[in-house]
Amino acid sequence: MINGLHRLFDTDRWFRRTFSHGIHPTENKHFTADKPIQRFPFAPELVLPLSQHAGAPSEPLVHLGQEVLRGEPIAKAAGFMSVPQHAPATGVIKKIELMPTSKGPRTLSIILEVYPGDSQEVRYAQERDVDAMSPQEIVQAVQDTGLVGLGGAAFPTHVKLSPPKGHSVHTVIINGCECEPFLTTDHRVMLEQTDDLILGTRILMKALGAKNAIIGTEDNKPDAVEALKAKLPEDGSISVEMVRTKYPQGAEKMMAKSLLGVEIPSGGYPSSVGLAVFNVSSTAQLGSLLPQSRGVIERVVTITGPGVSKPGNYTVAIGTPIRFLLDELGFRGNAQHLILGGPMMGGTVSSLDVPITKGCGGVLVLTEKEMQGQTASAAYPCINCGKCVETCPMHLNPCHLGKLAYKHRYEEMADAFQLNDCFECGCCSYVCPSGIPLVQYFRISKASNREKAKAS
Ligand code: SF4
Ligand code: SF4
Repeated sequence: MINGLHRLFDTDRWFRRTFSHGIHPTENKHFTADKPIQRFPFAPELVLPLSQHAGAPSEPLVHLGQEVLRGEPIAKAAGFMSVPQHAPATGVIKKIELMPTSKGPRTLSIILEVYPGDSQEVRYAQERDVDAMSPQEIVQAVQDTGLVGLGGAAFPTHVKLSPPKGHSVHTVIINGCECEPFLTTDHRVMLEQTDDLILGTRILMKALGAKNAIIGTEDNKPDAVEALKAKLPEDGSISVEMVRTKYPQGAEKMMAKSLLGVEIPSGGYPSSVGLAVFNVSSTAQLGSLLPQSRGVIERVVTITGPGVSKPGNYTVAIGTPIRFLLDELGFRGNAQHLILGGPMMGGTVSSLDVPITKGCGGVLVLTEKEMQGQTASAAYPCINCGKCVETCPMHLNPCHLGKLAYKHRYEEMADAFQLNDCFECGCCSYVCPSGIPLVQYFRISKASNREKAKAS
């Protein structure tokens, strides 16, 4: 190193691992990064969509008027690519009907009336010895918890623990990057649920037969790294690594590249290269739930943004309507002010009655001022500046893809220009000086191709 260089630069950070392309949006994590997780009160009614995960909707086990205990299974998995659901509170089943959710305006849902005077103690639990369980027993037990990817994708965790034939996993990556602006759920979980996170990591390693695990986080969370390092097992099988803060560092492919220099091939799985990637919050829930045979009934949610007076990180019962959360926090706006998830990949909601589901880690509340920035303004013609190409982390050509999408040449986009490698990070839209909603074009294009494939 050149003598004295370290005094001019933070050299450790400078040489820290990263991936090529990507963007640096304003982080805006200051609203909640220092706010410890608090428990939110129960809403009078919880809305539990039967489809709040990737795969087949779960099937109800309950009938109208049935009393249920907090933690009791209320819907079963409909096959391997599905998960069960558990009552997030003690109460009575009031309705099973179509309700608005973040997945769409009408999703079949169980509506649970919460008993207000109940202690809401979880009575539906049974201790078990995880060390005595075989990998196969762990996979079944993980499905029984109803656990899915809590980072947003809501992909059933037990399916990730069952790699395709011929694939084996040597390294588990625990993803604590949380690169979306505003969100601090994973950051607080790493600080406050450290023991559960380490135990969950060990359970995942055992289920997959993996020898190593890396908990990866961005270098804007050094306190989380310190907290985790203090709890690592002495055998060296689990390590904590920092990567450079950049969006979308939290994507699976970016994590594999930054931490290990490994490329997950186009159309391949992490297990194609011996890896499995899990979210930090999912892993901590696993460590907390599995040893007690319990199911997912709550999650940590960051409720934040300039439109809310008491931003924070809250443990919220699954099924809590957003209206209840925001009423408690003194919000007086409407659904148009909300984004579920972060500003880059989150979605808008059709109604304040939409509930918190397993995959929802954030509610971003904007004011009129920010809304004007979010509202799609007129798009101008492409000026071929190349900024979208320079930022796409998948090294696609969003400019060309956008022009094909405009002409509805969706199949050509997939066949000749790797549309399916686009994971809708939104970097291209973010940098486009013409305001072209590229990522929306790509979502529509992919949805159209999926519909065509289904119909054929
Ligand atoms: S949204 Fe798709 S095309 Fe655009 S930058 Fe992200 S991966 Fe690339
Ligand atoms: S960033 Fe926008 S204007 Fe520039 S090349 Fe891409 S699509 Fe065209």
